[in-house]
Amino acid sequence: MNKVISPVPPLDLTQQYATIESDVSAAVLAVLSSGQYINGPVVESFSAQFGDYIGTTECIVCNSGTDALYLALRALGIGPGDEVITSPFTFIATAEAVSAVGAVPVFVDIELETLNLNPALIEQAITAKTKAILPVHIFGQPVDMDAVIAVAEAHQLPVIEDCAQATGAQWGKKRVGSIGRVGCFSFFPTKNLGGCGDGGALTTNDPEIAATAKLLRDHGSKVRYHHEAIGINSRLDAVQAAILKVKLQHLEKWNTQRQIVASRYEQLLADVRGVKSPRATQGGSSVWNQYTVLIENSTGEKRDRLREKMQSNGVSTMIYYPVPLHQQSVYSDLGYAAGSLPNTEQAAGEVLALPMFPELTVDQQEQVVSTLKAVLKTL
Ligand SMILES: *Cc1c(COP(=O)(O)O)cnc(C)c1O
Repeated sequence: MNKVISPVPPLDLTQQYATIESDVSAAVLAVLSSGQYINGPVVESFSAQFGDYIGTTECIVCNSGTDALYLALRALGIGPGDEVITSPFTFIATAEAVSAVGAVPVFVDIELETLNLNPALIEQAITAKTKAILPVHIFGQPVDMDAVIAVAEAHQLPVIEDCAQATGAQWGKKRVGSIGRVGCFSFFPTKNLGGCGDGGALTTNDPEIAATAKLLRDHGSKVRYHHEAIGINSRLDAVQAAILKVKLQHLEKWNTQRQIVASRYEQLLADVRGVKSPRATQGGSSVWNQYTVLIENSTGEKRDRLREKMQSNGVSTMIYYPVPLHQQSVYSDLGYAAGSLPNTEQAAGEVLALPMFPELTVDQQEQVVSTLKAVLKTL
């Protein structure tokens, strides 16, 4: 008898919600009946718990990961005329925040094994205008922070970690977000710790940065209706804080499940020629927001056909990111020639993110890999 095969989604937030539904509902209802929807005790306690979890003395929650990056840059005094070194292989928000404060993103190439910015290329990108280094722990994989911190210290530059995809990931014994001067997190629903809407946080051990970020987040105001800087309005809603507080208790377990899913993929893919699994960074532990393989020698076209055929065979995959940031039209004025960041450009043509979420089953993973193998043969 044929087994009925159902489609495998790229991710499924409903399964996880079902396991915590009663706790989440109770937490949300408590906020609703409290009448305190902006700031207040739930936001305070989530903020303190999140800072403790990451391992910093300060945590400023805000409306999104994008805002966390913007606030971090502004709190460090970065603005027009300044340069910030970052990865071209990330979501637009990383560079967008740099541009939003009036500074210029300077992209350095990535390593194909980790898809993270290559720390060995940072030094040659430093100029008199460089004001910060902004590594991104892409797909949950920690950047080699020893190497980043070494070059940052040699040049007395602050490091801002973009941890949006890496909540809970560790470099050595430390969690990402506690290693550089500032860590920036997103609670967008698909992140490892995701709310039911937007949210973000900034972590630091520097009370001055925390105070400035808080001021800027609150319309440049410490005392209500007294404004000492042009800030923004970026709050984490009490309802989101309540949901995130419930979910934070499960994060370690979910991240462990993602690690199990990742090692299963690695085994299943070990003998598949032409498909390269991501390498776990030596010294770090990834929390696998994505499991992104490289379809070797693809230059986009082959990978896209593979993806379409897998889709019609019931396996959904995603492409993060089809266009690197230095090749986005919005950054055409930065003048990066084609081929200037070769690993990044190669990655954009070869990446394929396989379904990844904590509840993915062995059967589903086997279906993903057997579909991938079968389709590869037809290309
Ligand atoms: C999601 C993401 C952001 C932005 O977070 P939002 O909460 O969506 O604003 C920033 N950087 C990276 C790498 C991300 O993946």
